[in-house]
Amino acid sequence: MHNSRTVPVIFAALLLIIGGISWQLGSHGPEIAAGPSSGPYMIAAANPDATAAAQEIIKKGGNAIDAAIAVQAVLTLVEPESSGLGGGAFMVYFDEAADKVLAYDGRETAPAGATSKLFLDDDGQPLGFRDAVVSGRSVGVPGVVKMLWLAHQKHGALPWSDLFEPAIRLAENGFEVQPKLQEWLEWDPVLKDMPVAGDYFYKTGPDDKKVPYRAGEIIKNPAYARTLREIAEKGPDGFYEGDVAQAIVDAVQNAPARPGTLSLTDLENYQAKERAALCRPYRIYRICTMPPPTSGGLTTLQTLGILESFDLKGMGAMTVTSMHFIAEAEALAYADRDQYIGDPDFVDVPVDAMLDPEYLAARAALIDASLSMGKAAPGNPGEEHADNRGANADMSQPSTSHFSIVDPDGNVVSMTTSVEGPFGSHLMAGGMILNNQLTDFSFLPERDGKPVANAVAPGKRPRSSMDPVIVFDEDGGFHAAIGSPGGSRIINYVNQSLIAMLDWNMDVPAAIGLPHFMDRNGPLEIEKNTALEQKIPEFEQLGHEVKVERMMSGLHGILVMPDGSYNGGADPRRDGNVVSGTR
Ligand code: GLU
Repeated sequence: MHNSRTVPVIFAALLLIIGGISWQLGSHGPEIAAGPSSGPYMIAAANPDATAAAQEIIKKGGNAIDAAIAVQAVLTLVEPESSGLGGGAFMVYFDEAADKVLAYDGRETAPAGATSKLFLDDDGQPLGFRDAVVSGRSVGVPGVVKMLWLAHQKHGALPWSDLFEPAIRLAENGFEVQPKLQEWLEWDPVLKDMPVAGDYFYKTGPDDKKVPYRAGEIIKNPAYARTLREIAEKGPDGFYEGDVAQAIVDAVQNAPARPGTLSLTDLENYQAKERAALCRPYRIYRICTMPPPTSGGLTTLQTLGILESFDLKGMGAMTVTSMHFIAEAEALAYADRDQYIGDPDFVDVPVDAMLDPEYLAARAALIDASLSMGKAAPGNPGEEHADNRGANADMSQPSTSHFSIVDPDGNVVSMTTSVEGPFGSHLMAGGMILNNQLTDFSFLPERDGKPVANAVAPGKRPRSSMDPVIVFDEDGGFHAAIGSPGGSRIINYVNQSLIAMLDWNMDVPAAIGLPHFMDRNGPLEIEKNTALEQKIPEFEQLGHEVKVERMMSGLHGILVMPDGSYNGGADPRRDGNVVSGTR
């Protein structure tokens, strides 16, 4: 199903019919135990093995949380360049029966031994990005397993141990390599020389050269199957204590370059958190996102809050005018993002002041219809925050994965999950890639003598860009779920898709198939090899400095159509697909 990008309505209807038939057949056979509800469900994710696992769990009677756990267990195996149990995640969840939106934080933390100088060399200069990434120092305490456990304790329907079965089967019998994994294996300059990963992802070809596995070939991962069995049997203790924990600590502390301090105590002490979802109105809708430590939700809500002052619909979809206003609003929001956002358990993030409608209207008033402002300056959301922070200094590479799930009872998961850069720290333990999420901290703890909100500190979570979103309609019903990978571009990929669906009336495949443009408070970036390249002279006339870039979004979304049916889309830039049916 490579690059299967859409489930058009007719196909979806067909699936509903087939789903109905299989439910009837299933009622005579043991393989399908229908749950209490037989409403429609849909899953959009970055890999067909992952969507199939979610479907299997839902058909067994599982709900969206159960399905999300199965998806994550499979993605760790089949999309190891992007996310995994050795990494972190954020999940926004809509509990339909309770009519509540919840936000779960499984972001990695810095170990107790980390200091603000973690990514400085002996002369106090920032380490080179690759030196920082490919090391033990970049590995944060993984948060995914405890986050999924927390969500499952509260909302799960099936027993925890059942949720790992599809992944265990795939790890033992082998999974098929997808094109993106092959591409990243070919690209990676150092993975082939790493302990464990070098032998796991590459075969030894003629002349003793390491050759990456190719798309369509099969890889088995018995070490990961053992890890999964531990977690299935013992819950989070199977990961944060015992053999798996020891293997993680050994890999980090004995890393070939720049070992880290991550210890058994750090693993034991990790806490996933339930936070209040960050929700704000946008036109007739209500948009619910993840609060800090990610900058994703807050920056999306700031951008949309600024854009509420303008008639994006009237300006027309993807016209130079509408793109100019969106890009300027993004630059303003990114200026605040770099100044004010860090882990709220360590620094005061002025969330309410940054989303105050008056403040956002004042920011909107800075936009000139006929001339770009160039580099935007951060605003002052409240006196005590005026200019007392240094700007963030981090770098991040596009990796990560997003999936959206709506179950037969109408519960919704929007989850973005990451090992940070492609193949994380490049270290492996228990058959899993270990993240390099700590390089999402600012390498510099202060700038011009001022402390940086996102500086490293023990136990602190690095600022993220991940931006899982759930949208509600004017009656408070579920309307859409979406999110994306893409490093610091994530936020603007999500903004564009939300505007396309909510202002320009596009369905998910149309919205995520649009050529990308954005402003991260630098140049106006436009997607390479798209029709936008022809508009460069018009953008330049508006004073934009334009840069053409390859843009690896991975938007996976679900939208409720006017007739109440679900419409889903998987980003054509990645390997994912959409599945749907009835239980
Ligand atoms: N680590 C990044 C973050 O949490 C995401 C990286 C990516 O999407 O490639 O914001």
